[in-house]
Amino acid sequence: MKNVAVIGAGTMGNGIAHTFAQSGFKVQLIDISEDSLKKGLATIAKNLDRMVAKERITEANKAETLANITTYTSVNEGVKNASLVVEAATENLDLKLKIFKQLDEACAQDTILATNTSSISITQIAAVTSRPEKVIGMHFMNPVPIMKLVEIIRGYNTSDEVTNTIMDLSKTLGKTPTEVNDYPGFVANRILMPMLNESIETLYNGVAGVEEIDTVMKLGMAHPMGPLQLADFIGLDVCLSILNVMHDGFKNPKYAPCPLLVNMVRAGKLGIKSGEGFYDYSESRKAEKVSKQFLK
Ligand code: NAD
Repeated sequence: MKNVAVIGAGTMGNGIAHTFAQSGFKVQLIDISEDSLKKGLATIAKNLDRMVAKERITEANKAETLANITTYTSVNEGVKNASLVVEAATENLDLKLKIFKQLDEACAQDTILATNTSSISITQIAAVTSRPEKVIGMHFMNPVPIMKLVEIIRGYNTSDEVTNTIMDLSKTLGKTPTEVNDYPGFVANRILMPMLNESIETLYNGVAGVEEIDTVMKLGMAHPMGPLQLADFIGLDVCLSILNVMHDGFKNPKYAPCPLLVNMVRAGKLGIKSGEGFYDYSESRKAEKVSKQFLK
């Protein structure tokens, strides 16, 4: 496998492109938005600079990594020659179904189609293609170049051969792949999201303030980030979508998103990406320090 197409150049897509390119793959990075592609490339360059400064890679490695990435605004153009497509577009079921129908028509018959979805059913996505045995979940963690885990999700029809190929490929990226089955939220978010939601509920109920809740979890449970900081880092819209998928999928009220989370997303307070969530990233030096600390 030499050519990998990545769909979406946002928070996750640029990290996935960076990781493949740094491991020597030719990456076609595709986004419908020119602006997202520009910002995605700028983020990759900034993160590579940070690695050079820490002497984890050389200037030459940085240049090779950037040279391995080509950008496209057309999916059909970008996926030509790709042996693997990793889709990391916005977390929305209808959008993902539309993209996978298009990928199935545009890609060679042996191309593996992976999705980085946080919670949407791999089986449902695979069902709109003519190759459900070649559709798989490849759930990277944020920030992708740093985090070791890739949750590998087998859909109902995913073949052993495709699962083994993607497990091995993840190891060549320096990651630790972990195989799980296809149920709402998989493993990572099924356990993480109820904790984040409960932290928001604790704030909503007036039990404690933002910093107090985060301090309890950081110092009391040895978490590297407080849950409200982490929700800001993931994106409150992404957290809400995942909770909605689990709530719909299990029909269990324990996954119902907290009304405060719903209101914040409606108000456009999405966390770091919008400049404000539980912390104020435009003015608060402290919040800025939090995200940088995590990237150390
Ligand atoms: P994001 O909003 O930062 O980026 C999404 C990108 O997709 C945008 O640049 C948008 O322009 C692009 N896009 C939308 N429609 C497209 C299309 N038809 N073709 C090509 N590009 C399109 O979102 P994100 O946080 O990077 O999330 C991407 C995926 O990764 C989601 O499925 C999400 O659930 C998953 N994920 C997110 C995190 C996280 O911490 N944010 C972690 C793990 C997985």
